[in-house]
Amino acid sequence: MQKKYLMTPGPTPVPAEVLLKTAEPIIHHRTPDFSAALRSAIDNLKYVFETKNDVLLFASSGTGVMEAAIVNCFCAGDTVIVARNGKFGDRQKAISEAYGLNVIDLSYDWTETVKPADIQAALKENPDARGVIVTQSETSTGVLNDVKAVGAIVKDYPDTVLIVDSITGIGAVECKTDEWGLDVVMTGSQKGLMLPPGLGALSVSEKAWRAYERSTLPKFYFDWMKYKKSIDKDTTPFTPAVTLILGLNVALQMIREEGLENTIKRHSLLADATRKGCEALGLKLFAPADGRGSAVTPVWVPEGVDGKEIVKTLKERYGVTIAGGQDHLVGKIFRIGHLGYFGEFDIITTLAALEMTLAGLGYKFERGAGIKAAEAVFMGIDE
Ligand SMILES: *Cc1c(COP(=O)(O)O)cnc(C)c1O
Repeated sequence: MQKKYLMTPGPTPVPAEVLLKTAEPIIHHRTPDFSAALRSAIDNLKYVFETKNDVLLFASSGTGVMEAAIVNCFCAGDTVIVARNGKFGDRQKAISEAYGLNVIDLSYDWTETVKPADIQAALKENPDARGVIVTQSETSTGVLNDVKAVGAIVKDYPDTVLIVDSITGIGAVECKTDEWGLDVVMTGSQKGLMLPPGLGALSVSEKAWRAYERSTLPKFYFDWMKYKKSIDKDTTPFTPAVTLILGLNVALQMIREEGLENTIKRHSLLADATRKGCEALGLKLFAPADGRGSAVTPVWVPEGVDGKEIVKTLKERYGVTIAGGQDHLVGKIFRIGHLGYFGEFDIITTLAALEMTLAGLGYKFERGAGIKAAEAVFMGIDE
């Protein structure tokens, strides 16, 4: 037997309380029991999204809600500004193009943050732009983009909606939907919500509803109004992911009990310990110092070491699953997740396994330095 540890930024570990709930016999969705569960799930989601806007829930992965945002806000030929600095930003562009939108492409190196001033300039040049699309927490790179600053800019454009992919932002970093003027914010169940994959959620502001009224792109399963009308009556237009919604309430109750602010603080502490631990091993962090999120820590593979071998050895020899690099970063970086159901000793475990792996692969460093640095962060001491 080998005990296994899932240290990736999605899917993320699911707490036993949630697993037990989802193991219960299925209930029918046209019942008062399910209606009560749905009502509470929507209320709890509004709490984590920090919004009074409508929150809609779909049986889909995160990409489904990304597509939903496009088809419900735009018409073919509309201009949208897509700011991208990673794999998921690339996907936003691809979905926009698949639906015939005219994409103003603000493309950055994957080690850079999106610059709000560039969005301001792009809006000035393209005052007819109907949307600005940005990823808050780029899971492929660990980069955190300043969507608060982008919100302050887009606020002044009454016909332009701001669409934010916060799929690994919600529950890990601050995402103040209403206060920051974010029109559409989305997340997925297998990230900060501590659930198995299969649910996508998004919030819709009044401005986004006006975009919906104007939009002519084809839609059926993801038609927002179908969901709003049903959810307002505590039901769903189609068969919902009943089991996941019951589990969602348990997971969101755990966040409520911790308090969202504390949940975000915990993520920030875990991220800090992971970074300091890796740096103490002489490793270089991938994300820039001015834009690091708390969901995942991507790290450059040190020279002379096979990056794919790090991920493989961690998993096969030590039972610890971390994520590799994506696209052009395959083998060049590895990513340690600390999103959702994570605590201090998950970080210690991962760093210990990383040290053992690196030592085995011939990388030279002082063994124990990584866990020592992480311990110091958790103990609140300076060494
Ligand atoms: C996981 C993720 C998605 C959606 O991916 P799915 O595999 O469809 O769930 C989108 N954006 C970001 C930033 C993500 O981390």
